[in-house]
Amino acid sequence: MAYGFDTLQIHAGARPDPATGARQTPIYQTTAYVFRDAEHAAALFNLQEVGYIYSRLTNPTVSVLQERMATLEGGAGAVCCSSGHAAQIMALFPLMGPGCNVVVSTRLYGGSVTQFSQTIRRFGWAAKFVDFDDLDAISGAIDENTRAVFCESIANPGGYITDLDAVAGLADRAGLPLIVDNTSATPYLCRPIEHGATLVVHSMTKYLTGNGTVTGGCVVDSGQFDWSASDKFPSLSEPEPAYHGLKFHETFGPLAFTFHGIAVGLRDLGMTLNPQAAHYTLMGIETLSLRMQRHVENAERVAGWLEQHPAVESVTYAGLKSSPWHDRVARICPKGAGGLFTVALKGGYDACVRFVDSLELFSHVANLGDTRSLVIHSASTTHRQLTPEQQKAAGAAPNVVRISIGIEDAADIIADLDQALARAGG
Ligand SMILES: *Cc1c(COP(=O)(O)O)cnc(C)c1O
Repeated sequence: MAYGFDTLQIHAGARPDPATGARQTPIYQTTAYVFRDAEHAAALFNLQEVGYIYSRLTNPTVSVLQERMATLEGGAGAVCCSSGHAAQIMALFPLMGPGCNVVVSTRLYGGSVTQFSQTIRRFGWAAKFVDFDDLDAISGAIDENTRAVFCESIANPGGYITDLDAVAGLADRAGLPLIVDNTSATPYLCRPIEHGATLVVHSMTKYLTGNGTVTGGCVVDSGQFDWSASDKFPSLSEPEPAYHGLKFHETFGPLAFTFHGIAVGLRDLGMTLNPQAAHYTLMGIETLSLRMQRHVENAERVAGWLEQHPAVESVTYAGLKSSPWHDRVARICPKGAGGLFTVALKGGYDACVRFVDSLELFSHVANLGDTRSLVIHSASTTHRQLTPEQQKAAGAAPNVVRISIGIEDAADIIADLDQALARAGG
């Protein structure tokens, strides 16, 4: 039966515990699982039978979350891991090798810019940053060593919306998978696979868990990419020595990426999600649609109010008619442009610092997607490691604050912003 999103966010992947009848998904707080006999153990280790061996690879609580995420994103399978940044490495790991590159959007979460521009170089990987509104620039950046194209659906921090259909078409013609970070949108607002994405990555730390309790990440595979169409993806198409020459794509078909992610990625990189964190995230996802509706409703009201304020230079929210990306909302994220945007203050860097220090209801934190309204001055915090050019390209110039609108009363959020803007002067 084809259930709707609100039903699936509660039920997908879960059923009453077969041993006890427990209705809520139990937290399987165990490291290992008893084998029925030696033959069973051998079959599990050979990937001939699916089951539980050791919680670095698989855990029943985490498995429910994986199935729920795959279902909500419309994918074939999913691998959960310890954080959003872990998910990005887990997504690239089977695709890349020394000398390979990924073409990425300049409009990314600050930590992703650092991960891609600095850290992955130690693996011999490289990232090429381009403006994803310039399709010719993306094509121009793709070369014979490119193994993936990466962007965010609704991009942090400015709420910029990527034309996923156009970028996916381009990646497809180049025979490359498109990886979309769908953290800011969540599958309630945007389903990247329906726009041609191959892999969807998440920081579940944000809206999915929803109340700022745990870090977690996830990679969802569409199951639609032909890993054997070229010789570019040998980890998935060629024999794997650690599994007696098994070929993942040939053996597991649309689940090749998911099985590789668990059987090689989690096994050897060890960026495992723990069952407690999976539990919190499952609880959060049960109310995802309700929260996202309120986040959007509040963000639309607050962004509209801020745009009219005399101390405000501009507001980037794509839900506003003034946004250059407003016309993409109906196509890419028809239920709304999310709850995240930036505000530029006329008073510059100093006014931003005073503004952030004057807010009372808002919390000044390096997080987003909480039930609580959050604020951060990106240039002095999350985007501090970037050059001024990178800061500007990422939508985090010195006179800009990032706001993550919570699900409190919109009137209270506005009142707090009002008093803080008055104190910020400028
Ligand atoms: C937070 C975030 C990340 C990193 O996720 P962590 O769970 O903090 O590792 C990646 N991408 C986006 C868009 C984010 O907001």
